[in-house]
Amino acid sequence: MRETVGFIGLGIMGRGMANNLLRAGFPLRVWNRTASRMDELVQAGATAGSSPADVAAQSSIVVSCVSDTPDVEAVLLGPDGVIEGARPGTLVIDMSTISPQATLTIAEQLAAKEIAMLDAPVSGGSEGATRGTLSIMIGGDAAQVERAMPLFEAMGKTITHVGGAGSGQTVKLVNQILVVGNALAMSEALLFAQAGGVDLQKTVAAVSQGAGGSWMFTNRAPQILARDWRPGFSLDLQQKDVRLVLDAAQQLGVPMLATSLIFNLYRTLQVRGLGGEGNHALIKALEQLAGFEVNGRSPGEAAS
Ligand code: NAP
Repeated sequence: MRETVGFIGLGIMGRGMANNLLRAGFPLRVWNRTASRMDELVQAGATAGSSPADVAAQSSIVVSCVSDTPDVEAVLLGPDGVIEGARPGTLVIDMSTISPQATLTIAEQLAAKEIAMLDAPVSGGSEGATRGTLSIMIGGDAAQVERAMPLFEAMGKTITHVGGAGSGQTVKLVNQILVVGNALAMSEALLFAQAGGVDLQKTVAAVSQGAGGSWMFTNRAPQILARDWRPGFSLDLQQKDVRLVLDAAQQLGVPMLATSLIFNLYRTLQVRGLGGEGNHALIKALEQLAGFEVNGRSPGEAAS
C-alpha cells in the first residue's frame, strides 16, 4: 500500500525530518500551530493542513514531533486532534521526547479507536534532522515498525526497534543521561583548558577523536569557543528531558547523582532567562562559579 504521510510539528527537528520525507517521495500533509512555519514545506511540495484532525483524515501514517508530553496529548488526543480525524488502521508515530509512562496511556487511547502507535524519539540534533542521519529508538509492534521502515530510513541512519510500547522513550532517556553528562564534562574540560593557558582550538582538535570525545564535544565545543548560543537543542527542552529522566528514575528507584546536579545547574540558567539558548550554554553556569569565561582566545591574544 502506498502510504500517505501527515507531519505535525515543524520546529527545529520537525522541519528537517518532514523535508526528508518529501525528498523520499512521500505525499506529505503538514500542520504546525504557528501557521507561518508551514510555508517552507509548502514551497517544497507539501500540502498545508488545517488541524491535526485534518492531517490525520488525509493520511495513513501521521508523524508528530512537538515539545513535551502535554503537547503530544493535545495534538493527538485533544479537540481537533489526530484521534478525531484518523481512520481505523492509521499509524501514529510520535517522534517527540516525552514520558514513557504517558506514552503507554496515549497508545491505549489510540488503540481503542483501532489506531496503532509507535514511539520513535530521535537523537542527532538539528544537524541529524536536516541530513537524515538521526538515531531513531522505536517502541511498539514489530509489524508496524516494518510498515514504517521506509519513513524511518528517510529520516535516520541508526534505526533500532528496542521493544514494546514506551521503550523507545525509555532508551531516549538513557541517551539524554549521556548527553547532559557529556555536556557537563565538556564544560569542565573547557574551563580547565582555558585556565591552563592552552590554545582552545588546538585542544578541541586534539581530543575530539580520542577516548574523551563525544558528539557533544565535536559539535558544541566549537560553538562555545565562538560564544555562539544559537540552539540546535534549546536549554528549556533539554531541561524538560532531564526532568523526564528524574521523574522516571524516581519511579524506578534509581539514584541519579550527576543528572540531578545538572538539572539544578540548568535551573540557574533558566532563572537568568537563558532558556532559549542552546543546551551547550550549560557552561555559563560553571563559568559563573569559576569567575571567568571560556572565550577561545589563544594565550596572549588581546581581547577585542
Ligand atoms: P522546537 O523547535 O521548539 O519546536 C517545537 C514544535 O512543537 C513546534 O512546531 C511547536 O509549534 C510545536 N508545539 C509545541 N507545543 C505545541 C502544542 N501544545 N500544540 C501544537 N504544537 C506544539 O523543538 P524541537 O527542537 O524541534 O524539538 C521537538 C521534539 O524533538 C522535542 O520533544 C525535543 O525534545 C525532541 N528532540 C529535539 C532535538 C534537538 O536537537 N532539537 C533532538 C532530539 C529530540 P510552534 O511552531 O507553534 O511553536
